[in-house]
Amino acid sequence: MDTLYATTVAGNGTFLDGEAVENFAEHLHGPLITRDAENYDVARQIWNGMIDKRPMLIAHCTGTADVIDAVRFAREHDLLTAVRGGGHNAAGNALCEDGLVIDLSPMKSVRVDPDGRTARVEPGVTLRKLDHETQAFGLATPTGQVSETGIAGLTLGGGWGWLSRKYGMTIDNLRSVDIVTADGALLHASEDENEDLFWGIRGGGGNFGVVTSFEFQLHAVGPEVLAGLIVHPFEEAADLLRFHRAFTAEAPDELCCYAAIIGAPPAPFLPEETHGTTVVVFALCYAGPVEEGKQAVQPLRNVGDPIADLIQPMPFTAVQQMFDADYAPGARNYWKTQLVDPLPDEALDLVVERADPLPTPETKIVLEHLGGAIARVDPDATAYRHRDAAFSLNIFPRWTDPEEDDIHISWARAFIDALAPFATDGVGVNFLSREGHERVRAAYGANYDRLAKLKAKYDPTNFFRMNQNIEPAA
Ligand SMILES: Cc1cc2nc3c(=O)[nH]c(=O)nc-3n(C[C@H](O)[C@H](O)[C@H](O)COP(=O)(O)OP(=O)(O)OC[C@H]3O[C@@H](n4cnc5c(N)ncnc54)[C@H](O)[C@@H]3O)c2cc1C
Repeated sequence: MDTLYATTVAGNGTFLDGEAVENFAEHLHGPLITRDAENYDVARQIWNGMIDKRPMLIAHCTGTADVIDAVRFAREHDLLTAVRGGGHNAAGNALCEDGLVIDLSPMKSVRVDPDGRTARVEPGVTLRKLDHETQAFGLATPTGQVSETGIAGLTLGGGWGWLSRKYGMTIDNLRSVDIVTADGALLHASEDENEDLFWGIRGGGGNFGVVTSFEFQLHAVGPEVLAGLIVHPFEEAADLLRFHRAFTAEAPDELCCYAAIIGAPPAPFLPEETHGTTVVVFALCYAGPVEEGKQAVQPLRNVGDPIADLIQPMPFTAVQQMFDADYAPGARNYWKTQLVDPLPDEALDLVVERADPLPTPETKIVLEHLGGAIARVDPDATAYRHRDAAFSLNIFPRWTDPEEDDIHISWARAFIDALAPFATDGVGVNFLSREGHERVRAAYGANYDRLAKLKAKYDPTNFFRMNQNIEPAA
C-alpha cells in the first residue's frame, strides 16, 4: 500500500507508512476500510445527512482486542481518532476528517440474566436490539425514544426516555463498564472499582476511553403498556401547552408525556386534509399497569377537540419505535437544545409564535418531560449534572436541500436565543450540536472542573477529542 497522508491528533498533516497500515489490517479481526474500498461511502454514513466527513481509515472492530489494537495503532502514529457507536449523534463526532474511526457497530451482543435482572451489552447495539432481548423476559432499562439510536453514545451522555421518570436515566441503571483507555489498557469500572472513572463515564461522553461492554440493571416493564399520541390542531397550541404544563406538574413517576409541535405526517391514522399542516402532539407512555394508566391519562384525553386520540395498550417495543419513521437516517438535521423549568405563559406564547410557520413539515419542537426519578439523584453523584430541570426544549429542524442549510440553522439558533431569558443555564449533552467549549461547560456545570481533572488522569493528551470535549486540567 502507498503511503497515506492523514491528520494528527493536533490537526496537522502526517505521512502514514503503507506497510504499517497493512500490518494493522492483518492484525484486526474485523475489516479495515480504506478510501479505495467498495463499501467506503456506506461505511462513512451516519444518521445526520449533513455530516460528510472522509476518514482515512475505518476499523470495524469485532471485539475488545480490535479496539485495543486500534487505540495503540492510533497512538503510535499520532492519528486523529473518532469513536462510533450507533452513529446517531447529530453533531457528527462519530467520524473525523482524514483520521481513524474506531467503528464499534459490529459489536452487537446482548446477554440478559433474567434472574439477576441485568444485561451485558456491547457498544454496537441499538436500542431496538436491546429492547428485543430484554422484553423477551418482560424486562427493560430506560433508554431513548428512537430505536435505531446507539446504546453506547446515549448512555455515555446520560440517556433519558419513557422510563426515566420511573427508573432514572440510563446512567442511573449502569452497573459497570469495560473500557479501553488512551494508553490501550482495559479497565473495569463500577461503584467498587476505578470509582472515579465510573463517575465520569456516567454523563462524561466518550472523553475517557472506548467502552466495550456495558452492564445494565433491568426492571419489569410491560410487555404491554398504555402509550400513544393525541393530535390537536395548531390553532389551540397556546392553551394546550398551558394545560400540558399543569398536567405534567402533577403527573406520577410512571407517566412521561412530551408535548411537540410538528408537521402532521401523511399517516393513515390522520385525516388527509391535516397532512403537512402544523399540529400539536402529546406523546406519552405509562410505565405501570394499563388500567392505572388509563385513569392517570384521562384528564389529557378530555382536553379540547383532538384530530386523533391514539392512546392504547401496546407492546413496549412498539412504544420504543413509535417515532422511528419521523427520524429516519439520511435527512439534514441541526439541533438546538436547552433545559428549562416549567415555562411561564410569555415563553409558551413565544414558542407558539416561533413555530408558526415551521420551516419544513419534518421539523419538530419538542418539550421532553423529565423530573421524577431523574431529579432524585444527587447532582454530584454522576458526571451528568442538571437533574432538576423539568423539561428539555429541543428544536429539531430537518430538511433535504443543502442550499437551505443556512436558513434552517439560523432559524433554530434564533428560536433558542429568543427563549434564553426563560431557560436554565443547563443543557443535555446528548442533544448538543458542535457548539463550542462554553456549551460543553454548560452541559457539565459545576461538575466540569472535576471532569477536567479526571480527563487529565485518564487521557492527559486529549487523545479522545472527537466528542463534546472536556479539556484535561492543566
Ligand atoms: C433520532 C434521535 C433520537 C434521540 N433520542 C434520544 C432520547 O430519547 N434520549 C436521549 O438521551 N438521547 C437521544 N438522542 C441523542 C443520542 O443519545 C446521542 O446522539 C448519542 O450520542 C447517540 O449515540 P450513538 O452511539 O448512536 O452515536 P455515535 O454518533 O456513534 O456516538 C456519539 C459519540 O459518543 C461517543 N461514543 C460512542 N460510542 C462510544 C463508546 N463505546 N465508547 C466511548 N465513546 C463512545 C463518541 O464520542 C461519539 O462521537 C437521540 C438521537 C437521535 C439521532
